[in-house]
Amino acid sequence: MPAERLLSAICPGSYDPVTNGHLDIIGRASEVFERVIVGVVDQAVRKTKTVFTAAERVAFIEEATAGLGNVEVKPFSNLLVDFARENSAKVVVKGLRAISDFEYEFEMNQLNRKMAPDIESTYMMAAPEYSFLSSSGVKELAMFGGDLEGLVPPAVARRLQEALER
Ligand code: ADP
Repeated sequence: MPAERLLSAICPGSYDPVTNGHLDIIGRASEVFERVIVGVVDQAVRKTKTVFTAAERVAFIEEATAGLGNVEVKPFSNLLVDFARENSAKVVVKGLRAISDFEYEFEMNQLNRKMAPDIESTYMMAAPEYSFLSSSGVKELAMFGGDLEGLVPPAVARRLQEALER
């Protein structure tokens, strides 16, 4: 492992389902940190119900990151800062898309900082080609039979089409 890499980082999210935008951030984090733990929120924090169970969301990410030796995927249902501490991680990595993400992340950052000043949240800018890609957009596109190629891994595209037909 190159000596300049930092220790563990958490990439949290609902990942319903994982997109190539998420995978870009996870891959970039895995180049910087020694160990990356992708934390999949296993709880309806947001009011909307997820299309996939936490186990399914974890499995999609595991399959897509199988080539990255330092990435682990775990569900969590406690506070993010507690999950980070449990995993001995001091850094949280989040992706920032268009300006709209900023306000929400700014608020979350203040709350997390108040609860856990020892955990630092950091942000990676979304790649231009994924700046407008979201899980909710992908679900909407799939619902109307849109082409998901290049937006999500092929296995996710297949399962999403099946799930939405039900
Ligand atoms: P979504 O907002 O798509 O439901 P999540 O809640 O699962 O995504 O988000 C997990 C993390 O990934 C967040 O930090 C979010 O900002 C980031 N993210 C989501 N989509 C992208 C993207 N296309 N490019 C970069 N980061 C992203």
